[in-house]
Amino acid sequence: MAMFLCDKHGEVVASFVSPNVASAVNAGTDLDVLTITINEGFGTSRNKVDQAFVAEIVSEGLLSADSLTGISEESSWEISCRLAPVCAQCLAEWVSLQQARIETTSS
Ligand SMILES: [Zn+2]
Repeated sequence: MAMFLCDKHGEVVASFVSPNVASAVNAGTDLDVLTITINEGFGTSRNKVDQAFVAEIVSEGLLSADSLTGISEESSWEISCRLAPVCAQCLAEWVSLQQARIETTSS
């Protein structure tokens, strides 16, 4: 399990997200996120990514556009190589802020 040193939370478990999501979490800025599912052969993982990242990996044939799931173990591995680590706690806090923002916008 990968660890991450966070300024706010200390040494914590790392979550892997797309580079744009990592930047948004660290900067506290808004970004629409999608959850993809990949399986490199060691079990499935769910990762928060942005729409541009999804469009890129779908166009390269690595991700199914319908299920947002890695096409194969090899394509899942290629996707995971492009993900960046963030603090799991900062990510959870940021995701709940994003969800609150979406609920406020849609009501
Ligand atoms: Zn943190």
